[in-house]
Amino acid sequence: MSSADAGSVRVLGLGPGSVEQLTDEARHALERAEHVLGYHTYLARLPALEGKVLHGSDNGDELSRAHHALELAAAGAHVAIVSGGDPGVFGMAAAVFEAVERGPAAHRALDVAVVPGVTAMLAAAARLGAPLGNDFCAINLSDNLKPWSLIERRLELAAQAGFVIALYNPASRARPGQVHAAFERLRQNRAPYAPVAFAKAVGRTDEELELTTLGEADPAHADMRTLIVVGSEATRRIERPSGQPWLYTPRRVDGGRVDEDRADEAS
Ligand code: SAH
Repeated sequence: MSSADAGSVRVLGLGPGSVEQLTDEARHALERAEHVLGYHTYLARLPALEGKVLHGSDNGDELSRAHHALELAAAGAHVAIVSGGDPGVFGMAAAVFEAVERGPAAHRALDVAVVPGVTAMLAAAARLGAPLGNDFCAINLSDNLKPWSLIERRLELAAQAGFVIALYNPASRARPGQVHAAFERLRQNRAPYAPVAFAKAVGRTDEELELTTLGEADPAHADMRTLIVVGSEATRRIERPSGQPWLYTPRRVDGGRVDEDRADEAS
């Protein structure tokens, strides 16, 4: 096959929901695609897609979707495979590379590239203020692909280490109880005054933000559209005369090398 006939796969992130948070790079990759693959709900959110072949599938079909994209590209098509948020954050990008690694050797020669997107954690943080201003981590609470005991261990260690923690996939109809167990584990390892935010459907018309504390949070408020930000004991809440308070985590931790507020880190 000559390079003019070569297909391509772009694994791209659609951002958290609003079209304003779709990057130009992702939009261009979508425009160029002849085939678009993704979870039905994500395809429904896309800007105009006339003339493209859409392949909607169910959540959970990631590996077969990835194989399908690679097969189409191997046959010469330009393919976009989409994730909400960023494709590299609990999204399609890793599934595509799993499919490349397990698939025929010829797939390794394909033009496959990842186009980043605004992940839910960053969109939620921006709405809240600057809760990720110091060290943070992201944990996927779904135990579909990893044991629950490992999730509990990571929650415990992250809480002990003082990370601000973003919890993805906190709950679904199939696992309503696990988010309660997760909060129990966090409460055993972090003070009850640590701020917590439930950020629901950020960037969409049904967006909702709830600010509370680790001690008072009701984990039942989380659903599949919710990203939970668990602040550290250093995370602060600034009350305002009206409207939503800001959450931020100061850059400085006691014992830092620079005493004054003159940190020489790039910002
Ligand atoms: N690749 C996606 C994450 C997929 S996992 C990303 O980078 O954002 C799905 C989880 O992401 C959801 O259960 C929820 O926790 C979070 N999420 C995705 N979009 C969201 C949004 N608009 N608002 C809040 N949380 C969101």
